[in-house]
Amino acid sequence: MVQPNPALYPPLGYVFTDPQSGQDFVGTDWDDLAQQIENYRRANGLPVGKPLEECHRDYCRRHPRFCADPRRRVSVSVSSTSLGQRVVAWVARLFAAAMPLPVDQQTAEARAAICARCPQQTEWRASCGCSIAAVKSMKREWLRSAKRKPTKKTEELKACGALGEECSFSVWAEQKVKDTGQPRSCWRLVK
Ligand code: SF4
Repeated sequence: MVQPNPALYPPLGYVFTDPQSGQDFVGTDWDDLAQQIENYRRANGLPVGKPLEECHRDYCRRHPRFCADPRRRVSVSVSSTSLGQRVVAWVARLFAAAMPLPVDQQTAEARAAICARCPQQTEWRASCGCSIAAVKSMKREWLRSAKRKPTKKTEELKACGALGEECSFSVWAEQKVKDTGQPRSCWRLVK
């Protein structure tokens, strides 16, 4: 059976609409997505089925170019996750639970000014153009719906090499992160 290529981030993230109930699910990865579906079906007295296989089958039907037969796949190192893939995965996690509200304009401007001077600023590329377009359009929609304007430093910001986040996006997010060795000046470390 063809399966998702683990080296490619799904263009629309880890999503599934359950044909049994019509319920939509968004996961942080395939296992999380399958677990959510299983929990939902159990809680609602529905046949559990094989959620992981169903997700893979549905995804490969929608995105055949992102799938391959594992017996024929050229070997791909899953651990070689690029910064671009980390960025896209971070965006998916940000919106996985619920649409959070961006922080206020002043806070985002102050954070953006710190990021712009930070040595962790790194150019990033997604695995495909559609991922970049999806990240940009989610950010634009998110800020527009909350009536926020892009920060003055937006054009200068790249990705954070330490955290795998797109900085013109992350400065708006109210999100706890672990200390992963960011510079002490990082606004993420401020309590
Ligand atoms: S380490 Fe902190 S300040 Fe530096 S780019 Fe990352 S988020 Fe911004």
